[in-house]
Amino acid sequence: VTEPALDRLRALLGEIHDLHRASWLMAWDQETMMPPRGALARAQQRATVVRLAHERIASDALGALLDELRPLEEASPHESLDAALVRVARRDHEKASRVPAELQEELTRAGSLGIAAWLEAREREDFDVLRPHIERQLELKHRYVECFPHEDPYDVLLDDYEEGAKTADVERTFAGLRPELVALAQAVPTVDDSCLQGSFALRSQRSFVLDLLHTLGYRDDSWRLDRAEHPFASALGTGDVRLTTHLHEQHLGGVFAAIHEFGHGLYEHQIDPALARTPLATGASSALHESQSRLWENVVGRSRRFWTHFYPGLRRALPQFEDVPLETFYRAINKVEPSLIRVDADEVTYNLHIVLRFELERDLLADRLQTSDLPEAFDAKLEEYLGLRPPDVLHGVLQDLHWADASFGYFPTYALGNVVSLQIWERARADLPDLDDDLERGEFGPLRDWLRQHLHRYGRSFPPAELLERVAGGPLDAGPYLRYLRGKVAELAESRG
Ligand code: ZN
Repeated sequence: VTEPALDRLRALLGEIHDLHRASWLMAWDQETMMPPRGALARAQQRATVVRLAHERIASDALGALLDELRPLEEASPHESLDAALVRVARRDHEKASRVPAELQEELTRAGSLGIAAWLEAREREDFDVLRPHIERQLELKHRYVECFPHEDPYDVLLDDYEEGAKTADVERTFAGLRPELVALAQAVPTVDDSCLQGSFALRSQRSFVLDLLHTLGYRDDSWRLDRAEHPFASALGTGDVRLTTHLHEQHLGGVFAAIHEFGHGLYEHQIDPALARTPLATGASSALHESQSRLWENVVGRSRRFWTHFYPGLRRALPQFEDVPLETFYRAINKVEPSLIRVDADEVTYNLHIVLRFELERDLLADRLQTSDLPEAFDAKLEEYLGLRPPDVLHGVLQDLHWADASFGYFPTYALGNVVSLQIWERARADLPDLDDDLERGEFGPLRDWLRQHLHRYGRSFPPAELLERVAGGPLDAGPYLRYLRGKVAELAESRG
C-alpha cells in the first residue's frame, strides 16, 4: 500500500520542483538577459509560477499523502532517502499551508518588481525610486509573519533561510564576534594595496576568471558564467549551474565574486543525483551555502598557496602585475581596512557590515524605523561601526539587492556562513594532510571530493543544525573562525616589509 503512495508523492514533488526551477530560471534571466522594460511582465510570470507551486505544496492532496506515509517515515532509518523526503515535504507543506496562495504570489511579484526598481534607483542614484517597493514588501512581510505563531517576528523570516535558527541565538553570536572583530581590525598593520587600483581590461579579467574557474572544477558542459549587477549563483540542476559576476575595470572585486559564486555552484553541482526533482535537491540552508562560497572566496581564494599557483596566469592576463611581487599582491588582497561596500569588504570587517544590516532589518520589521529614514539610518550605522560615511546612496543603502527583492532575514546567514566555513575547513584540513600542497599545485579535486562526501551530496536531507554536527563535528562555534583571523592578522604583521 505504501509503495504507490511514495510514487505519488515523488510525482507531485517532482512537479513542484519543476515549477520552482522554472521560477529560478525566470529570475536568472531577469538579472542577466532581460531588457529593463520586461520587468512588469516578468513579475507576473514569476508570481504565477510560484503560486502554482505553492498551491501544490499547500494542497490537501499532499497533506493526505503525507498522512498516508507517516508509518513508512517512522519505520525508515533516519538516514534513508524516503524518510528525508517525507520529513522535508511535511515541513514545506506545513509552512506553506499557513500562507494564502494569493499572499505568496504577491510577495513574489513585489520582489521581482523590486529588482527592477533597484536597478533604476541605482541608475538615477535615487532611493525614492525604490522606497515604495520596500514599503509594500514590508507590508506583505508583516502579513506573512502573522501566518505563523511567533515570539519574535524576525524568527519567522529567518526560518525561511535557516531552519530552526532563532534571532536571539544570532544576536548572541554577533555580540560575541563584534568586540573581537573590532580589536582585530585595530591590530592589523597598514598594507599598501595600490597594486589593486588601476585599469584592468574587462576582457582580460574575464578570460583569467574562466581559466581559474576551470581549474577549480567548472566545466563548459554543465556551467555558465554571465554578468549581473549583483552577483549570484543559481542551479537548475546538477548539470546546469549558472554563475554570475560583476567585473569592474578599476579593481579585481569581480574575480573574488566569481570564486564566491563558484562555491555556491559547486554545492548544488555535487548534490547526489538520486535527490534530483525532489525538495532535497538544494543546499541545506543559506548559512551552509554561504559557508561554501566564503570558503572558496576567502579561505582558499585569499591564501598564499592559491595565488602561488594562479599569480603567473594573472600576470599574463594583466601585465601591470609583472612588476608586482607575489608577496605584495598577497598582502594587498588580504588588507584589512574598513570600507563602504560589503561585498568587497575584508574578512575581518565584513561581519560588521552584516551586523548593521541585521539591526536595520529588525528595526524596519518592528516599525522602529520608517523606510523614508532608512538611507540616513544606514549611513549613520556605517559610520558608527566602520568609521566611514557613504558619499552617495550607491555606496550606502542602495549597494545591496536584498531589501529590494524581499529577502529580509537573509543577511545574518552571511556571517553565520563565515563562522561555519572555518569549522568545515578545520575538519577538511585534518582529513586531507596534503591540502596545502594541493592548493599550491592547483589541484582542487581532493577538496571538492571531501566537500561532496561530507556535505554537498546530502542536499537538504538533514536539518541544517544536524548537518553541521555531521560535517563539522559540533554545533555553531566561532572559535575556528576567530583563530583563523588571528592567525592571518599575525602573519600579515610578521611578513611586514
Ligand atoms: Zn553568497
